[in-house]
Amino acid sequence: MTRSFDHVVIGGGVMGASILFHLAKRGARSALLLEQSTLGFGSTGRSSGVIRMHYSTEVNTRLSWESLNVWRNWSEHVGEGDAGWTHTGFMIFSDEDYRPTLEANIAMQQSCGVNVSLISREEALEIAPAFTIGEDEAVAYEPESGYGDPSGAALGWVTAARALGAQVELETPVQTVEIENDRVNAVIIDGERIQCGTAIIATGPWSSKFLATIGVSLPLKATRHEVFILKRDLEAIPFHPGGADMANLTYFRPEAADLTLVGNGNVVHDADPDNYDSGASMDYLYDVWSRLAARMPQIEAAEYTHGYAGLYTETPDSHPIIDAIEGIEGLYICTGFSGHGYKLSPAVGRLMAELILDGEASSIDIWSLRMSRFREGDLNSPQTTFRVMV
Ligand SMILES: Cc1cc2nc3c(=O)[nH]c(=O)nc-3n(C[C@H](O)[C@H](O)[C@H](O)COP(=O)(O)OP(=O)(O)OC[C@H]3O[C@@H](n4cnc5c(N)ncnc54)[C@H](O)[C@@H]3O)c2cc1C
Repeated sequence: MTRSFDHVVIGGGVMGASILFHLAKRGARSALLLEQSTLGFGSTGRSSGVIRMHYSTEVNTRLSWESLNVWRNWSEHVGEGDAGWTHTGFMIFSDEDYRPTLEANIAMQQSCGVNVSLISREEALEIAPAFTIGEDEAVAYEPESGYGDPSGAALGWVTAARALGAQVELETPVQTVEIENDRVNAVIIDGERIQCGTAIIATGPWSSKFLATIGVSLPLKATRHEVFILKRDLEAIPFHPGGADMANLTYFRPEAADLTLVGNGNVVHDADPDNYDSGASMDYLYDVWSRLAARMPQIEAAEYTHGYAGLYTETPDSHPIIDAIEGIEGLYICTGFSGHGYKLSPAVGRLMAELILDGEASSIDIWSLRMSRFREGDLNSPQTTFRVMV
């Protein structure tokens, strides 16, 4: 017998999981999520989990700010699982070059309601005595930011969606979407054709490959990024907030009691998601560790624990694509989140459910994230945070 669902979500990262949950929460319970491997197998399972508001465009700032409310009140919004919210605060360090951009970004973020401000060097050192801050540097502080557990969030969302009646199948790669007369008919998995009215492509770094199976081409590429974890001497550095260092080009956050996670999103290498090196490299380790030590000198004596690499899904303007696919009724795309999709995923899932169920995303204006912008040459200005966190 042919199985049939109203909605099939393809991909079990934070985006697919959040979309499934928000569909089910809105009452669309004939919904199935298909994941080729395990939940969080893609970017989600390798994400640094930083939750900060520092963006240079309004759309990303609003997505981030709205999502923070969910991270901080997970059980109230989702009711299942543990998304690992940990409050740390977040600092952005700027040299003279970046200062005008920082000031413009902060003004824009404040106009969106974000709790962020420029603070003095003395105030910054009081919050985080382990940092070295030059007299000529500027510091912005987001007191409400922190980090969380991306895989935990994906699991929480699908658990809550299943409790509402949605279904989830792992180890089930989708081969393609069957389209007839310009509308979605079914998704095809090994040995089965599952009928559906809508199919939502949330396939992260595999998106280009998957879109090719239905003859759609979008400027998406997968890129490889490393992070590593250091064990701090707690006497030397008992605590530090999360941060983005525009001068020394690192981002970092504390992890658990005595660890520090560090990365730098702008060291970019194109990668094939089915065949890339997911391990750490010595060159990167020494380079990024020494730059972290320029901001936090005593981290030099920390102990290396481990490192790994994961994939971003990048677009030419480092903004995602959240849209209905033009010309194919019932087909939707949600991808291209570079190094910042995790923190945006609560708001994105809600917007996707609006787009699918109401025909329009209304809670935040996402016109600038439409797929036609590439054809129209109407790109967003690239994130100024590109130097550190794409
Ligand atoms: C090293 C690193 C650090 C990061 N740090 C941060 C951070 O600090 N803060 C932040 O906000 N973001 C961060 N990100 C970005 C964030 O993790 C991603 O933007 C986010 O996880 C993207 O989620 P996704 O669901 O779109 O993609 P993914 O998590 O990649 O999920 C896509 C899923 O689709 C599945 N799939 C693909 N093809 C098929 C198919 N044909 N059939 C079925 N399933 C399929 C894959 O197996 C995968 O599980 C980081 C990313 C990396 C790699």
